Amino acid sequence: MKSYEKFTHIGLALDPIHVGTGGTRIGRVDLTIVRDPVTGVPKIPGSSLAGVYRTYVAMAEHEKNSTRRVSGQEWPYYPHCAGLGQPRGDYKGHCGQPDCPVCTVFGFARGRDSAGGFAGLAAFTDTQVLLFPVPTRQGPHWVTCPDALRLIGLEVQGVTENSVYLENQQDKPLNLGWLLLTVKKCDEFNVVRQKLCAFNVPNEIRSRLALVPDRLFPQIVNSNLEVRTSVSIKPETGAAEEGALFSYEALPRGTVLVWEIIAKNPKHFRIGDQEITAVADPDNVHQKVAQAHPYLEHLGIGGMGTRGMGRLKVVHPPEAS
Ligand SMILES: [Zn+2]
Repeated sequence: MKSYEKFTHIGLALDPIHVGTGGTRIGRVDLTIVRDPVTGVPKIPGSSLAGVYRTYVAMAEHEKNSTRRVSGQEWPYYPHCAGLGQPRGDYKGHCGQPDCPVCTVFGFARGRDSAGGFAGLAAFTDTQVLLFPVPTRQGPHWVTCPDALRLIGLEVQGVTENSVYLENQQDKPLNLGWLLLTVKKCDEFNVVRQKLCAFNVPNEIRSRLALVPDRLFPQIVNSNLEVRTSVSIKPETGAAEEGALFSYEALPRGTVLVWEIIAKNPKHFRIGDQEITAVADPDNVHQKVAQAHPYLEHLGIGGMGTRGMGRLKVVHPPEAS
C-alpha cells in the first residue's frame, strides 16, 4: 500500500495575483509579493495556498451538509473547520473529528479534549512560476527556463547563453520587456510543447514560448510584474483618504503556475486512538482537496479580491466529472 501520492497542479492566472509579504517595501512599490529567497522569483508559499484551499474545501463541505453536528452541537464546517482553529467568540474552531474531511485533510492544532494536534493528510509545495507572459515586438511570449521546466519533469539542455531561445532562428534580436536579446534556435520545443499539452496548457500559450537561461529568468519576471497604483477609500465617506495613494505588484494575468499536492495514506494515521473515516486513500484525499478548484477560479487567491484580482483557473488535473 502506497504511503503517499503526488499530484502536480497547473494553474492559469485569470487576473493579476497578489500574495503579499505583509508590508515590505521594495523601491517604490508599497505592497510587494513573496519571492523565493534563493532565486528571487515570485512565488506563493505553500502555507498560503493550504490556507486558501482549506477555506474553500470547508465552504464546499458546508454546501453539501449545512446542518452538521458534533456530539449533539451544531458545528458547521464553515467557518469553524476553516480558519486558524483557535476558538474565539462565536467561532468554535476546528472540530478535529476523524470523520471531518476538512480537519483530517488539512490538520488541526489541538483536539477538543486537548489531545495532540494533527498535521493533515495533504501537504502543499510552494507555487512556482512555470510560464511568464512578457510583451515583445512580436506580441506576447510566455517565458520559461530549464529550472522552471524541471518542476514538470523536463530536462532541457543547451539553454545557457544570454539569449532568448525560440523554435526558429531569427537574425533580428527580440525584446523581452525592455531587455533586448539575440535569438537562438532551440531543438527541444517539441518535447516542451508536448509536455505542456499533456498538462492542458492552452494552445495560444504553447505556441508562443520563449526559453531563457536560468540566470536571466528572475530578472525578466521581476521587471515585467504588474505594478498598479490605487487609493484607499474611507468607508464612511466613500472618498479617497488623504495621502492614501499606494502601489502594489502582482503576477500578471496569463501567468502559468505549478504546485504539488502530496496526499498521504489515511490508513497510516490515527486521530487520538480512532481510525480516520473521512477519507479512505490518497486519491480520496486529493478529491476532497480538489473541491476547492472551482472556488479558486471564481473567488481567487491573495489580496485585493475586491479590485478584480486573484482568480486562478486550475487546468490540470482536469475537473473530475
Ligand atoms: Zn473539522
